[in-house]
Amino acid sequence: MKRIGVLSSGGDGPGFNPCIRAVVRTAISHGVSVMGIKYGFAGLINGEIDELDVRSVGGILGRGGTILGTARSEEFRTERGRLTAIRKLHEYGIEGLVIIGGDGSFRGALQLWREFNFPVVGVPGTIDNDINGTDMSIGVDTALNTVLNAIDKIRDTASSHQRAFLIEVMGRECGYLALMSGIAGGAEMILLPEVETSPEEVASALKNAYLRGKAHCIIIVAEGYKPGLEAVASYLTERREELGFEVRTTVLGHVQRGGSPTAFERLLATRLGVAAVEALLSGQSGVMVGLVGNKVVLTPLEEVVAQPKKIDLSLYQMAKMLEK
Ligand code: ATP
Repeated sequence: MKRIGVLSSGGDGPGFNPCIRAVVRTAISHGVSVMGIKYGFAGLINGEIDELDVRSVGGILGRGGTILGTARSEEFRTERGRLTAIRKLHEYGIEGLVIIGGDGSFRGALQLWREFNFPVVGVPGTIDNDINGTDMSIGVDTALNTVLNAIDKIRDTASSHQRAFLIEVMGRECGYLALMSGIAGGAEMILLPEVETSPEEVASALKNAYLRGKAHCIIIVAEGYKPGLEAVASYLTERREELGFEVRTTVLGHVQRGGSPTAFERLLATRLGVAAVEALLSGQSGVMVGLVGNKVVLTPLEEVVAQPKKIDLSLYQMAKMLEK
């Protein structure tokens, strides 16, 4: 292989840049040039492609976001769109592709490999940590630290005013971020898409916490929890006299996607970026690089996308035990 391409696709997260840097510098060390493809599959179809050299990825280790930009592309889901994508890859002399993204992006990658036998290697990048074949995806650790920082700050004001705070964190299908930030942040309750919890149960926990003499009550709510943050908040507010705590809500939103990647994130992104290029150059394709038990491993993309990764519910039980 003389030239490879790299793109980021789907939702962004901190750590994409150190990964791109690792991809570029590893490939160049092996005498292979690298084309940076802007805005995911959409940019590939439109030919938004430029060479990345060693210097062009300088100074990005600590920068959030992705210098390549990211996007979702409806056109790439069509056969015609993918045909145009392959033509562009040939036009630019790109012989293999590193794709940083989530499971949707890997489904797209698989299509390129299956339909055109085009070499692809995936790198897991999503703050949801819902990708099989890796303990951690790029973006998760930084997002977790951002959430934790917010919980700590909100707890200060919650204690001062004897308030209960419902804090909504990202995770539409997967409650990983809510569960882990709830444990690390010492939340009094964690509401997940994976675990049914009624507003009545939340009210009862709140009342109990008040009766136990707690100065505050922090409840972490995953975005995908049903019936949702607003429904629970209004249920609790209507019963404010009976519950003791006054209730406030905070939606953390997109702050969770930004910021300088943590040390763990930079190391993970770097290791996976290096491994992705080495896999591609050694003839591997249709695989994803991941970190399992602190070792970099390859997993077939078919297995990766077969089903979303589930959270470890024993950790939820542990969190419940510690909610005192
Ligand atoms: P995140 O988990 O952060 O949302 P993602 O990679 O799962 O990231 P998606 O929007 O699901 O994000 O997918 C990104 C892009 O991958 C889509 O816009 C589309 O171009 C391509 N893609 C997704 N699924 C398929 C598919 N089945 N076939 C072809 N391309 C696909």
